[in-house]
Amino acid sequence: MIKAKKSLGQNFLIDKNILEKITNTTNIKNKTILEIGPGTGNLTTYIVKKNPKKIFVIEKDNELAINLKNKFNNLITIINDDILKIDETSLFEEEVIVFGNLPYNISTEILSKWIINLKENFWFESLVLMFQKEVADRIIAEFNTSNYGRLSILSNWKLNIKKICDIKPEAFSPKPKIDSTLLFFYPKKHFVKIKNPHSLEKITRIFFNQRRKMLKKPFNQLFNGDKNVLDKLEIDLTLRPQNKNLETYYKLACEYEKLGS
Ligand code: SAH
Repeated sequence: MIKAKKSLGQNFLIDKNILEKITNTTNIKNKTILEIGPGTGNLTTYIVKKNPKKIFVIEKDNELAINLKNKFNNLITIINDDILKIDETSLFEEEVIVFGNLPYNISTEILSKWIINLKENFWFESLVLMFQKEVADRIIAEFNTSNYGRLSILSNWKLNIKKICDIKPEAFSPKPKIDSTLLFFYPKKHFVKIKNPHSLEKITRIFFNQRRKMLKKPFNQLFNGDKNVLDKLEIDLTLRPQNKNLETYYKLACEYEKLGS
């Protein structure tokens, strides 16, 4: 019997309907799959049933990695390592589908890291990831809503995002204290080309630092009141940061980069 380790955020999925639903999010047959944080292999079992070409899993917990080896033998390739420390982007010869029910803080960190590091050639076809519901709500938030902010702007830059479903604590063992949400991400064909992703991070940090205040102060801080930028992007400085749509922030990041050149 495997005892769940709190330090590794281990909440194993046990609800069969949810497991089925996760693996029905996208077509897996003959595809290469990467599962991160497979745990006791509950989701892995459902993935195997859908006949993928190959399954790679990355699991940090040594004990669980051995357990997975015993359970699945040669059906899967186990990488006993920390997802935050390895370069998963260069492991594969073709685009993969990523599944992950990871500890919640790691899901957000990984998503940000992947978006920031994404090159022209996407290394994944899609991502099926679990988040704490509150975080998922921020990722998918539309502008003019209170959840809209840095995470929505970064996440939507290069990826299309679809909410699959909310998941109650009862679907896991041990039960987490919070609700979860499953999100599906796939690459956008066209997105605004920002040279350095950190420009986007920087301007959104400054704009959303005081989200209830008018745009005037952060705009002047970043652009020194540049009227050309204001006119070009049709920005009314008396609005709040949440009133400007995604496109405006991507374009602002480009304008910000021009200042330095
Ligand atoms: N996906 C499984 C397990 C979820 S629990 C299921 O749905 O049942 C989260 C899993 O992520 C655990 O197995 C935990 O050991 C693993 N994990 C936690 N941090 C990790 C990290 N940094 N890198 C890889 N795996 C990690």
